[in-house]
Amino acid sequence: MFVLKFGGTSVAHAENIKKVTAIVRAKAATGKTIVVVSALGGVTDALLRCGTLAAQGDATYKESLQALTQRHLDTIRELLPLTAQSGVLSRIMQQCHEVEDLCNGIFLLGEFSDRTKDKILSFGELLSSQIIAAFWAATELPCQWVDSREVIRTDSQFTRAVVDFKTTNEQIKQLVSNSQAQVLLAPGFVAANEAGVTTTLGRGGSDYTAAIFGAAVDAEEVEIWTDVSGMMTADPRLVSNAKPIAQISYQEAMELSHFGAKVIYPPTIQPLLQKNIPVWVKNTFAPQDYGTVIKAEAEQNGNTIRGISSINKIALLSLEGSSMVGIPGFSKRLFEALAANSINVILITQASSEHSICVGVDELLASRAKAAVDNAFSYEIEMGKVNPLVVENGLSIIALVGDNMKSHAGTSGKMFGAMGRNGVNIRAIAQGSSERNISAVIASSDVKKAVNVLHEAFFETTYKQLNVYIIGTGNVGGKLLAQIQQQAGYLQQHLRLQVRVVGLANSRKMVFNDNGLELGNWQEQLGNGEPMSLQGYVDIIRQKNLRNSVFVDVTANADVAGVYDQLLERSISVVACNKIACSSPYVRYRKLKDLSREYNAAFHFETNVGASLPIIGTINDLLRSGDEVQKMQAVLSGTLNFVFNNYDATRSFAQVVRDAQNEGYTEPDPRLDLSGTDVARKIMILAREAGEQLEMEDITNVSFMPESCMQGSVEDFYAEMERQEPHFKALYEAASKEGKKLKFVAHYQGGKAKVGLQHIDPAHDFFHLYGKDNIVLFYTNRYTDQPMVVKGAGAGAEVTASGVFADIIRAARI
Ligand code: ADP
Ligand code: ASP
Ligand code: MG
Repeated sequence: MFVLKFGGTSVAHAENIKKVTAIVRAKAATGKTIVVVSALGGVTDALLRCGTLAAQGDATYKESLQALTQRHLDTIRELLPLTAQSGVLSRIMQQCHEVEDLCNGIFLLGEFSDRTKDKILSFGELLSSQIIAAFWAATELPCQWVDSREVIRTDSQFTRAVVDFKTTNEQIKQLVSNSQAQVLLAPGFVAANEAGVTTTLGRGGSDYTAAIFGAAVDAEEVEIWTDVSGMMTADPRLVSNAKPIAQISYQEAMELSHFGAKVIYPPTIQPLLQKNIPVWVKNTFAPQDYGTVIKAEAEQNGNTIRGISSINKIALLSLEGSSMVGIPGFSKRLFEALAANSINVILITQASSEHSICVGVDELLASRAKAAVDNAFSYEIEMGKVNPLVVENGLSIIALVGDNMKSHAGTSGKMFGAMGRNGVNIRAIAQGSSERNISAVIASSDVKKAVNVLHEAFFETTYKQLNVYIIGTGNVGGKLLAQIQQQAGYLQQHLRLQVRVVGLANSRKMVFNDNGLELGNWQEQLGNGEPMSLQGYVDIIRQKNLRNSVFVDVTANADVAGVYDQLLERSISVVACNKIACSSPYVRYRKLKDLSREYNAAFHFETNVGASLPIIGTINDLLRSGDEVQKMQAVLSGTLNFVFNNYDATRSFAQVVRDAQNEGYTEPDPRLDLSGTDVARKIMILAREAGEQLEMEDITNVSFMPESCMQGSVEDFYAEMERQEPHFKALYEAASKEGKKLKFVAHYQGGKAKVGLQHIDPAHDFFHLYGKDNIVLFYTNRYTDQPMVVKGAGAGAEVTASGVFADIIRAARI
């Protein structure tokens, strides 16, 4: 004997019902089969809405009912041949009128009791099952329609009735033994009390109906046919990467469903577990997929946990007070007060100080709970020994489930580490001694992020998703986007990293796409984006609250550098090639570094100095390994190096500077480079990274530029440089007549830094420095006589973009 249950989507309309029919036909050919069906998808909600509207005196329920009736009649017309339609049409129509009469009554009375609710909602399953029975009769799949209300006996707790298994089992057994039919078809969800009044088993209860039938007849197996290919590692609506679980134990399935995995109604497992009946979860729309089998012993598959689930709309109730410590019976009184008011407790925690007890309950019950508990402890509250119950709303529970957790140390460390890195604040924690479940209470707004972060942390087969927001689409930004696009496949395959650009902005427009922008035509998407507002961009990023978010600043804009704190304090990493933040007053630089540490968010800016050369990273490594930087000598301006390498007084100095700008080697305003300010900023950043509290004023800058060049616009600057050509020529000749080269050098030692033009002789490390190369010599406690040297291209959009890209990847690994 088999029991098959088909959910709302599986029977949503004629086309799906035909798919269901094929599945049942195949199964029935192998043995006697009981089929349980839900209401057509969405009908239960629609019926509930009609009753609620009517109770509120809103007559629009009539239109909704009309549409519902029409939907059922249309389904019949589509399924059945004309000749077979009339009987079932009139029966269904009549029952729809009955629903209407009930709603009219509710409208007049202004009252929608739980008992009436059950009566109205029961029509969903009653109608669907009768339509399907009529269709099967017409397609030579004869079946016996069974009214579940005649066999499933419950108490009178309407909307969530409790099954009387003794009577129910007897009635089902009798029904089945008296039946000759190969297929029995029953409505899910509905039942009746002793007096024959309709009850229901709770929302989602058709699964339970199947389990009740399955257990009563000792079925070989129960199959839950739904719209996904099994129980999955997480709710697929939250985690696009969720994977079906091939095998899972009864206990694990129960934990997952109790903690929110909607795919199975929680009470379903219990009756089947007792009889050791396997449960399959299968996909009506992909019947060939393996699905999930729930059974007593599920094989371990190498993962520490089996799945992750979450429940929303939780309220945390905290009872605190000095008189609680060491006094037995306190928790008893708390739980008694809750139980007496039918408040179900979902999670409990008590710290060993016994100073407070926290319980998680359904948010809807929170105010009832507060009244009950405050009443129960009114004496202690009055005496000031216990505080009134504190209620916090807007919370959710997230749970990791797996039988295998008990044999693995470090699961909770991994769980809380992963959430902490993403700025998810944990309000309460519970772990049962079975070690099958670890639950944490978090803000509901963090649930999606938390489930995804945990999914990435625990399921090795999935990849980590990095959500990148880029600001700046100039030379470097454009190259960066091209590199990300080109490298996407490699990163996914080799680093299990999926880099998505989920936001892009320049000074005019901004655009977002949570699935990742199509990088092949970002220009067009950005062009169609919304008008840019920097604060708006930041607000949206914060509000989206995506996991592993990285904000990438490829501008040279001071306002953009001013928003980093707002991101870091939300645990959003910042990667900047913009030097403004790190060369701001020391307190600002320090604050950003501290925020990065405090909120576990990366703050990377390797490209502030020497494009993608490993300069800052090298200093960090030296310091981490216990070394100290004593002295740095460096050529840090790709621009100035390019200019002095190319200037030999045959073309004017101004023309060479213009070439550098055209090649993209200068700051947008080249005077920042020519004045030495940019080099001063860079050596300051390096000194700060080496542990020095340096300010710009502390750096001696011996400028080679005539003061007159530094006034007016960029064009005035070029014109004035042409006029000053003799000055530049003299600088060049002074060096070249001694066989030396001009280099703009930065020097740091003993807390002091200076930058300026120097004559470099052929024996010096700096002499053979070509094009736009940079070089840094590090003298440290370990590198005393011979410095450690880092040298290579220190400017250019392509290399800068690659440095930014590397920082982004680094941010993923914090
Ligand atoms: P039915 O109408 O067939 O009973 P439900 O909507 O009640 O279907 O349950 C199936 C849905 O449960 C899926 O479409 C999926 O969105 C959701 N779901 C939540 N958590 C899980 C999970 N861990 N595995 C599979 N599905 C889940
Ligand atoms: N139709 C009911 C509901 O939507 C029962 C079910 O589908 O399982 O809750
Ligand atoms: Mg369901």
